[in-house]
Amino acid sequence: MNILLTGGAGYIATHTCLELLKAGHRAVIVDNYVNSQPEAVSRLEELAGQPVPHYVADVADREAMDRIFSENAFDAVIHFAGLKAVGESVHQPLRYYRNNLDTTLTLCETMQAHGVRRLVFSSSATVYGVPDEVPLREDMFCKGCTNPYGWTKYMIEKILGGVCDADPEWSVVLLRYFNPIGAHESGRIGEDPQGIPNNLMPFITQVAAGRLDHLSVFGNDYDTPDGTGVRDYIHVVDLARGHVAACDYAAGHAGCEIINLGTGVGYSVLDIVNAFERVNGVKIPYVIGPRRPGDVDACYADPAKARALLHWEAEKTLDDMCRDAWRWQSANPRGYRG
Ligand code: NAD
Ligand code: UDP
Repeated sequence: MNILLTGGAGYIATHTCLELLKAGHRAVIVDNYVNSQPEAVSRLEELAGQPVPHYVADVADREAMDRIFSENAFDAVIHFAGLKAVGESVHQPLRYYRNNLDTTLTLCETMQAHGVRRLVFSSSATVYGVPDEVPLREDMFCKGCTNPYGWTKYMIEKILGGVCDADPEWSVVLLRYFNPIGAHESGRIGEDPQGIPNNLMPFITQVAAGRLDHLSVFGNDYDTPDGTGVRDYIHVVDLARGHVAACDYAAGHAGCEIINLGTGVGYSVLDIVNAFERVNGVKIPYVIGPRRPGDVDACYADPAKARALLHWEAEKTLDDMCRDAWRWQSANPRGYRG
């Protein structure tokens, strides 16, 4: 298939692009680099051993998108483009709603106009809100999100569901990612947050690199085995393979399907710190701090539906995730900036 990756220069998309090419697909990228660097695309091309056609454009720009669809015959689209920082979304709600909703609406209208009706969307486990029970299954009622970023994902899921209800020729897979971490085993591409990272693994790697003093563990009084928050961490390369499987699935089915991409196993913050120290032989100084508002005790997937429908499951271990995250960070102390 010839597949368009919106937000294609980003963390998850670059890894997905490599897996798509490995599986024999063709890929085209569109990104406006609002949260990524052209260097990521150069490194992707180096790893792929071939040029990857890429456009610099805003996915909400109707004319630009129309031109991209006119110049290419796409079989499917994976829609990664979006702003993703939870805390920032609380302070800049309009920017988040505008960007994440507008990109999706413009993309779908352009797809419709060009007769492309297969879409895989980057949703998030955040749409489950505060869960009553874990593991999380796709048929569980989502009670509401705790921040504007989460609401954009929730709203886009509803929009895409409506598109499928209205036109039975559409095939949409809503992938609810759990916590992607790690990097390609080459250490050439990886997660490159701007400023001080919000997420646990990039924070840990920056402490290991000496860029940050210590980790603050956000609370140790949660209802979990060691009191720290439990999450379902998934290696980004496993996640990337999940997209290849989702594209194959979308090619053979119509309608809208929600699918979790997680491992089904939860690890606590201290599990991650301990594994990182053991695997990489580095020390991560930490202090126990207060809880972060909006955080839940435990969040992990029931991955049964992905196994059944996509014939996919995560294969990499927590040790792989810690090793690969550190390889990327230590080889690129300032990310793609050198
Ligand atoms: P990322 O920021 O690395 O990638 C997103 C890419 O989209 C960036 O390259 C950015 O420049 C681009 N982009 C944003 N708005 C755009 C626009 N208007 N036009 C063109 N390009 C635009 O983030 P990521 O971690 O790779 O996440 C990819 C997707 O997965 C996002 O939609 C994110 O919300 C979702 N997601 C991520 C996580 C996670 O923990 N990383 C978890 C769940 C869901
Ligand atoms: N966390 C932490 N210190 C940090 C960042 C995160 O203790 O500096 C904890 C957080 O409370 C949660 C887990 O690590 O229990 C994962 O947080 P992250 O922000 O990576 O993902 P999310 O909150 O989206 O699950």
